[in-house]
Amino acid sequence: MQYIDNIIFLILLVAGFGLFAKSLQKIYRNIRLGREINRNDRKPERWETMARVAMGQSKMVKRPVAGILHLFVYVGFIIINIELIEIIVDGLFGTHRFLATILGHGFYNAFTATLEILALLVVIGVVVFFIRRNFYGVKRLTMKELFGWPKQDANWILIIEFALMVAFFTMNTSDWVLQQKGLLPEHGNFPISSTILAPIFNNFGDSFLFFTERAAWWFHFVGILFFMNYLYYSKHLHIILAFPSTWYANLDKKGKFNNLESVTKEIKLMMDPNADPYAAPAEGAETDVPSKFGAEDVFDLNQVQLLNAYSCTECGRCTSVCPANITGKKLSPRLILMKTRDRLEEVGRNIDKNGKFVDDGKKLLNDYITKEELWACTTCNACTEACPVLLDPLSIIFEMRRFLVMEQSAAPQELNLMMTNVENNAAPWQYNQADRLNWAND
Ligand code: SF4
Ligand code: SF4
Repeated sequence: MQYIDNIIFLILLVAGFGLFAKSLQKIYRNIRLGREINRNDRKPERWETMARVAMGQSKMVKRPVAGILHLFVYVGFIIINIELIEIIVDGLFGTHRFLATILGHGFYNAFTATLEILALLVVIGVVVFFIRRNFYGVKRLTMKELFGWPKQDANWILIIEFALMVAFFTMNTSDWVLQQKGLLPEHGNFPISSTILAPIFNNFGDSFLFFTERAAWWFHFVGILFFMNYLYYSKHLHIILAFPSTWYANLDKKGKFNNLESVTKEIKLMMDPNADPYAAPAEGAETDVPSKFGAEDVFDLNQVQLLNAYSCTECGRCTSVCPANITGKKLSPRLILMKTRDRLEEVGRNIDKNGKFVDDGKKLLNDYITKEELWACTTCNACTEACPVLLDPLSIIFEMRRFLVMEQSAAPQELNLMMTNVENNAAPWQYNQADRLNWAND
């Protein structure tokens, strides 16, 4: 019987991690559909940014209540899952609380007590988040764009985390009561289970206690595998992808656009007859003339932009500060990333089905993101400033606008007029350069 348990455990473990690896492989393949971009420069700054923003959650705490609760859930959940090491060894070899023999009595007691306190903080965090999301009416969390799957997904994550913590406490409490009865070896210190929950469990019979301990242990293990595989379908993927996203974040000053060197050169030559056509390009500039200007579909976006689409937490901090959205325009930077991910997933499924991408007659532009949304953006960068994981929805908007202007000449009338003026008069106004100071006459 013992061996059957171990074999079932092994099969579940291999299947769980195998499926998860497959999902990660798909994400990696999809991200690589984008254009390459070199963001491996300034490594010390990138390490520092990742440690501060992804690990240290420095931008989350700008909204302190949500930030601190998120920190509880994040740190608690990650650390509690260190226990997975113990679960794996116990499951494979039939041991019980294997880490106690490695860490020693005192250290194991401190370890288990810390986990219990963190688990309690996680429970508090997820309960408050659930109430806040469903009953408190925070605008950015109740907007129409979250109706349907995004809202269900957010709730499922909280429910799963809550269930995992309940299983964790059930396992510990049954274990502790059995230890007090001398039916299990004394390992661990459980400040929450032994005080708050034990009085209830004290009424259970021995065989039921053994059953609940094992059932909760298995539930916890299978729950972790399920949660891990659920990530692929969820905004919760950010618990992994926030790290590469912050590493590959744009470290340039906000507002610095990625001018195309080939275009800049043409304009310089056009506007300045003395310009040197053989001048060296600016440092870090793209020198090749691209096959297509801007982005019409996910293939035209760069790999960091596609990584951003997978990393979005759907928190809506960007949308809540977007002046276009606030003033009722049809633009939400959060939705720009959500739609990019949806389109990328659609392309991924197309590749899975056909072995390679077969034209489906759709594009990110128009089928997912409309021109109206794109032109509503003021390029103010408030969204990128607000994002807790340094995502950049503006860069996607900007690339799609670049496509509209440079490939389709489809800019709004007002802009076309202004650009014609720049071309003809080297100024945005409709009069000759020589007349520019006429306003100062008299
Ligand atoms: S840059 Fe555009 S999308 Fe971002 S906050 Fe400003 S207006 Fe909104
Ligand atoms: S882009 Fe950033 S701020 Fe906006 S919803 Fe996604 S994670 Fe939140």
